[in-house]
Amino acid sequence: MARPKNTERLADDSLLFNVAPIKVEPVSKETPLMTQYYQMKAQYPDAIMLFRVGDFYETFGEDAVKTANVLGITLTSRNNGGNDVPLAGFPYHSLDTYLPRLVRGGYRVAICEQLEKPSKEKKIVRRGVTEMVTPGIAISDNLLNHQQNNFLATVHFSNTNLVGVALVDLSTGEFLVSEGDVAYIDKLLQSFAPSEILFSKKFAKSFDQIFGDKWYTYGLEDWIFSHDYTQEKLYKHFEVNNLKGFGVDEMQQAQVAAGATLHYIASTEYKNLQHITNISRILPDKYVWLDRFTVRNLELLYSPHESGVPLIHILDKTVTPMGARLLKKWVALPLKNLQEIEARLDKVAYFTDHEDFKNVLETQLKLVGDMERLISKVPLGKVSPREVVQLKRALYAIEPVKIALQHSENAHLQRTAEQLQLCATIRDRIAKELVEDAPALVSKGGFVREGVNTELDELRHIIRNSKEILLEIQQREIRKTGIQSLKIGYNSVFGYYLEVTNKYKDALSIPADWVRKQTLSTGERYISEELKVLEGKILGAEEQILALEERIFADLVFAITDYIQPIQTNAQHLGVLDCLLSFSKIAVKNKYVRPVMDDSLVIDIKAGRHPVIEQFLPEDAPFIPNDIFLDNDEQQIYMITGPNMAGKSALLRQTALIALMAQMGSFVPAASARIGCIDKVFTRVGASDNLSSGESTFMVEMTETASILNNISERSLILLDEIGRGTSTYDGISIAWSIAEYLHNNDLARPKTLFATHYHELNELADRYSRIHNFHVATKEIGQKVIFLRKLVAGGSQHSFGIHVARMAGMPRTVVNRANEILAQLEDKHIDADGSELQHSLQKLSTVKTNVYEAADEAALRLKEIVQQLDLNTLTPIECMLKLHELKRLSE
Ligand code: ADP
Ligand code: MG
Repeated sequence: MARPKNTERLADDSLLFNVAPIKVEPVSKETPLMTQYYQMKAQYPDAIMLFRVGDFYETFGEDAVKTANVLGITLTSRNNGGNDVPLAGFPYHSLDTYLPRLVRGGYRVAICEQLEKPSKEKKIVRRGVTEMVTPGIAISDNLLNHQQNNFLATVHFSNTNLVGVALVDLSTGEFLVSEGDVAYIDKLLQSFAPSEILFSKKFAKSFDQIFGDKWYTYGLEDWIFSHDYTQEKLYKHFEVNNLKGFGVDEMQQAQVAAGATLHYIASTEYKNLQHITNISRILPDKYVWLDRFTVRNLELLYSPHESGVPLIHILDKTVTPMGARLLKKWVALPLKNLQEIEARLDKVAYFTDHEDFKNVLETQLKLVGDMERLISKVPLGKVSPREVVQLKRALYAIEPVKIALQHSENAHLQRTAEQLQLCATIRDRIAKELVEDAPALVSKGGFVREGVNTELDELRHIIRNSKEILLEIQQREIRKTGIQSLKIGYNSVFGYYLEVTNKYKDALSIPADWVRKQTLSTGERYISEELKVLEGKILGAEEQILALEERIFADLVFAITDYIQPIQTNAQHLGVLDCLLSFSKIAVKNKYVRPVMDDSLVIDIKAGRHPVIEQFLPEDAPFIPNDIFLDNDEQQIYMITGPNMAGKSALLRQTALIALMAQMGSFVPAASARIGCIDKVFTRVGASDNLSSGESTFMVEMTETASILNNISERSLILLDEIGRGTSTYDGISIAWSIAEYLHNNDLARPKTLFATHYHELNELADRYSRIHNFHVATKEIGQKVIFLRKLVAGGSQHSFGIHVARMAGMPRTVVNRANEILAQLEDKHIDADGSELQHSLQKLSTVKTNVYEAADEAALRLKEIVQQLDLNTLTPIECMLKLHELKRLSE
């Protein structure tokens, strides 16, 4: 059989790579294929174009160089009628392997397909871009992580202070908008972590300056961001005259961003976006405001450390992709509204108390798979028979869930039951039409059940029974004609034939309508109408079967589009149930308690634990729980001292984590917890503690701290960890001091504050201000060893921890003694408003030359030299430890 694809590839090949001309003058004429290529490519200049030629995807020119580089495939160079064009390609069936690599490599990819079947008559086939794949526009399972949303964000800078933002996940149909100031948008971007961000080209530079250059971004033409154009886009998509129904009518800047998003998606060749049924706004007021340092420092979703474990990792025991994705949102956006929090907690409590109910739910949830992404693939034309069968299974799983919820004694759960929709008609139709183990590719065929379509059944019968049918015909004709030796055979020239041996060749019983085709030495060959029809059926059956199955499948998929909305609603409810179930599982497993939530200004945690650290401690050295009581009247500010490694930072974080977990609707790691809802969490970590996260400068630390002071509220929780460390001791103390004073004395609010510091000088503040209280994390010394008790106790600490640690590390006595001497002199001075006296005494001290190394030997001299060169103001605690280690080695 002729293979048209090959003909096309060969034809194109010869067009593409003209045989090197014998003539001397260069031939500059492009081949027709390349002309077509350049036309296509011109429309997608920023993308790598995968150009389908026969069984291959080819890339040319610079695209080829990049592609070969990223994929590690061979780069060749072929002659394009005069010029050498670099070329790299791969077989079409490797697309699933190579495409994700290109996109992950940060490239945009335009897939240009052959739009018609090649034939001998046509020199060149029609081609067109059928799909554009970018980090933010990815549908294929190979490109997506089921546990994560894949958001595409569009940011619109207006001429007001408001920045509009739209977030869409094409793979799930979620479409969210919001607007706010730059800090808010920055926080949203951090929380939603979009894989691609769009903006007007005009603002490319400003974007980087404001939001940093770590994002994958793409600049669109500025005109797209016009109010009229974008509004039109939105109205058309949602088939409305205004956006009041979505509650986003007032959000002008957000609308522009949303409309620009739709424009962009359309330009990537996804035309049918029926699964984007809704646009909803993210209300900044609804959620606890976590500043970006808090998001990072509390390690809610990600940990900046390689071996670090974020909170989500502990909380996530979900069994559906919808649940996993939703939980990330719950963690990034803890609630502020008491009723909503209580509603979640009630359900978690119900689950926790009803083991059987929980089991039914879990069993069914495990069956649903990624319902949300499956249904999105329907309008996008990407759904496979196997996935439709999975969709059916998911729909069947809903029934027991619905029944269980109906029978629960919880009003919230009963309401969910009402909203779950069985979609029985389509569910049963899928069950009736598709076989259980349907293939992932339509072209494989064989997935439509018997009894769905008579024509299909007949065709299949023909294929399966062709031998028997031929035999039947043969038997019948023998009976009819009496020719005992009648045979049926096949040849490629005239197909099926009846062969009559010479003995019978003149028999009168040979029917008149048989047509003689061939005379052999042994007999005659005839064809008959009946055989011709059968032959047509057999030969065409395979192709027809496939075409029929494709049509039946397309009809089925079309019918499913009517169910996009109810199925999406189901997926959302199942996601919520999955998250609540997950909360209830960890509550039992990790021994959490239900927090008591109220509108007070109190945070009262008894025996609180750090949810992440406690999971990684050995059984014989479990986490040491601690109490925290904060309120706005008496105990507003904790001044927590203690040596390095005592557990100060852990205590700060666990307090915020417990409050936030409670407001996510989770039980908490404590013996008991009463949480007056908090509305904002601010975190600052002293510069040198923060080097790894990029904000290294003291300046940044200070500017950012200033932004806290401008935004505090009665319900804010502030974590200040070693603030002021990034500068010289006296600057540091003065700054920390004045910040504490401000938080205590300002007229705006009395935010609850945990202040961890190694400046024990700050303990003095407690004497001066009524709502500042000293605590320290206890340690015990046994011989040369320090035991960390990790217990928070009232009162400040007496030690200067640096020197303390130096002694622990085995620093020579003389050095330690001298250090203590200097310290004693410093401590004689008190902190005055401008710190000038301190500065002065420090200078005086540093000029005092003592000769502790009189009897110096070689090693001591070297030690001295090293110590003298140390610049204490720039060393981090870790560096100090390392230095001490080095010194110790030298002195041995
Ligand atoms: P600091 O901030 O005081 O230097 P960290 O809070 O960083 O100390 O704690 C140091 C280490 O001590 C943590 O990594 C953790 O493993 C352990 N730790 C902290 N608090 C506790 C606790 N309450 N119980 C057990 N181990 C703890
Ligand atoms: Mg610390």
